[in-house]
Amino acid sequence: MTLATSTQPTGIVERQRLDADIVCVGFGPATAGFLTTLSKQLINQDGTPAIESAVLPGAPPQVLCYERADDIGFGVSGVVTRARGLRATFPNLDPKDIPMAAPVTEEKVVYLLDPVGASRRSWALRAADACIRACNGLLPFEHEAVELPWSPAFLHKTGGLVLSMGQFMQWVGAQVQSTGTVQIWPGTPVAEVLIEHGEPEPDQAGRVTPCAPVPHPSSLGAHGVTRPTSAPKVVGVRLLDQGVDKQGKPGDGFMPGMDIHAALTVVGDGPVGPIGQQLDAQFGLPEGHHTRDWAVGMKFVVDLPADTALKPGMVLHTFGFPEPEIFGFFYVHPERVASLGIFVPSWFDTPVRTAYRYLQHWMLHPYIWRYLKGGKLRSWGAKTIGESGRRGEPHLVGNGYARVGEGSGTTNVLTGSGVDEAWSTGAQLAESVLELLKAKKPFSRENLEQTYLKRRRASWVEAEGRVAEKARVGFQKGVVRGMVGMALAGLTNGRFAPNGEPVPPYKRIPTLEEYYRGRIPAAEVEQLRKECAIKGISLHGALMQRCGWPAIPYDGQLLVSHQDALLLGGKVQAPPGYADHVVFLYPELCERCGTKICIELCSGQAIALGLGGVPAFDREKCVHCGACYWNCAQPIPENPERMNIAFRAGTGGLHSAEN
Ligand SMILES: Cc1cc2nc3c(=O)[nH]c(=O)nc-3n(C[C@H](O)[C@H](O)[C@H](O)COP(=O)(O)OP(=O)(O)OC[C@H]3O[C@@H](n4cnc5c(N)ncnc54)[C@H](O)[C@@H]3O)c2cc1C
Ligand code: SF4
Ligand code: SF4
Repeated sequence: MTLATSTQPTGIVERQRLDADIVCVGFGPATAGFLTTLSKQLINQDGTPAIESAVLPGAPPQVLCYERADDIGFGVSGVVTRARGLRATFPNLDPKDIPMAAPVTEEKVVYLLDPVGASRRSWALRAADACIRACNGLLPFEHEAVELPWSPAFLHKTGGLVLSMGQFMQWVGAQVQSTGTVQIWPGTPVAEVLIEHGEPEPDQAGRVTPCAPVPHPSSLGAHGVTRPTSAPKVVGVRLLDQGVDKQGKPGDGFMPGMDIHAALTVVGDGPVGPIGQQLDAQFGLPEGHHTRDWAVGMKFVVDLPADTALKPGMVLHTFGFPEPEIFGFFYVHPERVASLGIFVPSWFDTPVRTAYRYLQHWMLHPYIWRYLKGGKLRSWGAKTIGESGRRGEPHLVGNGYARVGEGSGTTNVLTGSGVDEAWSTGAQLAESVLELLKAKKPFSRENLEQTYLKRRRASWVEAEGRVAEKARVGFQKGVVRGMVGMALAGLTNGRFAPNGEPVPPYKRIPTLEEYYRGRIPAAEVEQLRKECAIKGISLHGALMQRCGWPAIPYDGQLLVSHQDALLLGGKVQAPPGYADHVVFLYPELCERCGTKICIELCSGQAIALGLGGVPAFDREKCVHCGACYWNCAQPIPENPERMNIAFRAGTGGLHSAEN
């Protein structure tokens, strides 16, 4: 690789430039699929390059991958997968080779009734619950739950795998790196995408800057093209500056992030990745596309009790409790370990979308707790999922770049699957890149369209993504309609599905007073708000308790405080010397904001009440789940699709490779 000093002085220290052939942003399943497929074909069996590098003649293409998290495999996912894409890459895949992997052996879908009487249920659901209880003996009703006697085929993961995302990614990472053709750099966030706009112009000092980083989307409309672009070309990325204060101002030990120039930039930075956001801000989304559907996923990895009857490979999905909108999952790994958790979706219209507290109530449901009692917390994590799927797809390719994985709209909300889809798009891109490299064709938009886009459009990921396109629309009008709509879409292969568009969150999140009307008087909400602020405790906890949710009986083993989950389970930490990656864009909007939903839902308790009504962010507690980015309920003046929180590139976060 060639290291050259760039023409871009930062004022204190010169910014370095590195030239590579391909640079990847993020090491999740999508880029892992890309690198696994690519790395196998870059050198011949005798060690000579199968394809020659453009930047290091005589060597194979120089491929770099930068991962934000401090190690490979610190991501969060369920995971149960049909593993079609994974098996296509690893035809001889033996689950025994991957720690915590097991073939799927049993699948159940379970409706959970409300055993505590605090859940916010519609009259229809209450009536359904009453009928189920009245028919006790006729229905398979036990432990306040009904195991559905039948579930639709589109939900099944028959022949698939239960995995730990962290362990799988470490297994893949080791294989990719052992080829010697790819370098993966964890702990190295990518801050910006570098875009070249036609003819370079000299700056005020007469220097010619060949490319410029894209301004952060916080200063751009997220869905509109904001700059004139004469055949813009992505020419690489800029890494994050080190040795700066919270606002990013250089301090002692300042080291400007290096510019990595490459003919192809592969963007696989997931649902809240800053590079994906910047590309969306720069190029806009295709007509009619949006990213209004998402969910916060939170999970525990648990040592099950010694006498557990649960067998590896068991897959359980729940709905109905703790709130009808919240889905649960429970997957069993080998050696008495289970992954379990909940999803809190965007269409759960409440200003108290607190995943941690709801997760504990879900675990305490009699149907679930009988499996968990006596168990122990091993690991904990949280992350958001982009659930718009095909409708959230951005421009997948452009001059010098291609997008893969969840940030490119691969997640399928109908089948509840994301890993296999993300992986497959990465593998499709790798085959396309090899084709172009061998033909010595440039990574232009046209060439990427004729190779990657063509493969992707012809694949099962696209076909199933289209079936799922409107599958969740019904949930905009309630859970029952949502379930019916989903079944309709799935059973008719997408031919019939509810029509409509999701509403942006700020239009659906009521104020606390509106939400609790009829249950807690407005004056009492205000009183609780003041008391909690003085005591420094969470308001959602007090409000939920007031509505009948019982206190959590902490046992120090599995039912632990949120702080203990962060420290024991997530082992969350952040190195010093980096800017805050969560930024409140318009403080005056925060001052006026009644819900302060960002504080209530923060997965890491990293956002707290600050001075003058503007929240304070503590980088050391942030798990990088991105929930605040999606959930903030205040749109910014220049773009109603974007909320008042910017989520930028940052370091640290979870330090567990089991999630
Ligand atoms: C709780 C939970 C349960 C889930 N359960 C399932 C399941 O059972 N089955 C299933 O198939 N899917 C499941 N999913 C979805 C699945 O995890 C995703 O679809 C999948 O991980 C997407 O892969 P990806 O590579 O596109 O993105 P990601 O997995 O998000 O990977 C993106 C990577 O990019 C890195 N990154 C981000 N920004 C930067 C930056 N600026 N610089 C460098 N690196 C960066 C991130 O750290 C991350 O490692 C679940 C998700 C969650 C949260
Ligand atoms: S960040 Fe958003 S949710 Fe949080 S206080 Fe500000 S406006 Fe309200
Ligand atoms: S501050 Fe960090 S932990 Fe809290 S919601 Fe935002 S990304 Fe998640």
